[in-house]
Amino acid sequence: MLGLMQDGQLLLSTLPTYAARNHGTAEIVSNTVEGGLHRYTWADAEKRMCRLAHALRRLKVDVGDRIATLAWNGYRHVELYFAVPGIGAVCHTINPRLFPQQIAYIVNHAQDKVVFTELTFVPLLEALADHLGCVEAIVIMTDAGHMPQTALSDRFNVLCYEDILAAEKDTIDWPRFDENTASSLCYTSGTTGNPKGVLYSHRSTILHSLGGNQPDLFGAGARDCIMPVVPMFHANAWGLVYIVPMTGAKMVLPGMGMDGETLQRLMEEEGVTISAGVPTIWMGLLQYLRQSGKRLDNVERFVIGGSACPRVIIEEFDNTYGIRTDHAWGMTETSPIGSYNSPKPNWAGLDKAEVHTRQLKQGRGLYGIEMKIVDGEGNDLPWDGEAFGALLVRGPWVVREYYRSEDGPAVDADGWFNTGDVANIDPDGFMQIVDRTKDVIKSGGEWISSIELENVAVGHPAIVEAAVIACPHPKWDERPLLICVAAEGASVTREDMLAHFEGKIAKWWMPDDVVFVDELPHTATGKLSKLELREKFAEYKLPTA
Ligand code: ADP
Repeated sequence: MLGLMQDGQLLLSTLPTYAARNHGTAEIVSNTVEGGLHRYTWADAEKRMCRLAHALRRLKVDVGDRIATLAWNGYRHVELYFAVPGIGAVCHTINPRLFPQQIAYIVNHAQDKVVFTELTFVPLLEALADHLGCVEAIVIMTDAGHMPQTALSDRFNVLCYEDILAAEKDTIDWPRFDENTASSLCYTSGTTGNPKGVLYSHRSTILHSLGGNQPDLFGAGARDCIMPVVPMFHANAWGLVYIVPMTGAKMVLPGMGMDGETLQRLMEEEGVTISAGVPTIWMGLLQYLRQSGKRLDNVERFVIGGSACPRVIIEEFDNTYGIRTDHAWGMTETSPIGSYNSPKPNWAGLDKAEVHTRQLKQGRGLYGIEMKIVDGEGNDLPWDGEAFGALLVRGPWVVREYYRSEDGPAVDADGWFNTGDVANIDPDGFMQIVDRTKDVIKSGGEWISSIELENVAVGHPAIVEAAVIACPHPKWDERPLLICVAAEGASVTREDMLAHFEGKIAKWWMPDDVVFVDELPHTATGKLSKLELREKFAEYKLPTA
């Protein structure tokens, strides 16, 4: 027997409609490429989304067409996030930090029909113009006064964003269709092989937003002011752009301004209460606060993820600024929130240091995500906080198959997706990433976590960034090599670093050598590129070898 309730489809167009009506005065503040702050409300935004939807149809954008964006976190990008899927097309966010050849590959793989670009990326598109055969029009996200002279006009129909909006009316009857329709597309950065497309649906996106804003997760409400520093061009800015219109929170978008000084100013002037970003961002902000002596008086919480959170971030924000750091884990393939670390009742009464230790874990799987850890043969491992193995997940916002992939399903017969991460889970359900399968150091049949060694290394005041990779060893197969970037002007030696590890790790985890470099290579998503490091140090001979 079926239930007798309505089955309204979970469509993204319902979000701006809801926000305009219920939170019409809630503000969206954007740091713009043209200069200065732009501010308007959800009532204004919704009208412009209607205009944009009409403009897209005038450009002959049809249901299912892929529409690319090359853009920062800003109001026009927000408009695209809703207007494109609103008419049944797919909003394909491209990470501009990818190698140009990878961007061309992605545009062609997705067969993007129209590209919306920020002024910043016009030169990038000019350089790729010969390789974008599928693209019919390029819309530059600015007003007539800022339109550049561009060679793109020789090849493409180049349009001005504000002009195409001005020509349209500001109301629409958003079409209704199946909630399983594709809504947006995001490619993984492809640290190995070509990038792979994850194609989200309206349903998966709305369920992820509902799941991700529970009280023990983002937990944002109408009295909050949220600043997603995590880019809208990667992993949907962790769902925040969809969560905000559900809640009526104020939203502050930093645009290109991801340096400590800009972030501190925006947070103070706009009253930011919650912000989210990767560790590099928070390390940069901490350094700025230390140097300038400035404060953050409104911020209650930082959410951190994308790579492991160094202890110094949790400690210093808590002890010096009274800000709680929530550690989260996820990936493009999980929309991206998979787990989130918030306290349980049995944390009450713990001293600060113990709380900080617990906050280093990547957190509990949220409702909607099933998790398990398995050994090499696929057998379930116990949740005892000790046993670690491959981390598998499944749920309504986890990928099933990559877009236009020839490899078939991305999951096993029971729907489990192998994350490529190695983790343990404790009896309270807190998951801790030990390493990525590819990065763990296999020493004499036992595993050493590169992440844990890196965390200890950056806890040294003279170290800005650190990476640990496996180096071949005749006796142990692999041993850890620590590669560090020292702070400007700091004098720190190999011996200082090894002494710093004493007592903080098991003896046999001690790095076999320490190397100092000027900088470490990063991927397009700002993570350490261990692949590049392994290549660079392929011939390195450990003193113990
Ligand atoms: P890519 O960098 O390959 O494009 P994602 O940005 O989706 O992909 O990265 C997902 C990966 O990032 C995860 O599988 C995990 O290895 C790593 N990651 C994400 N959050 C954390 C975290 N809090 N701690 C450690 N690793 C993390």
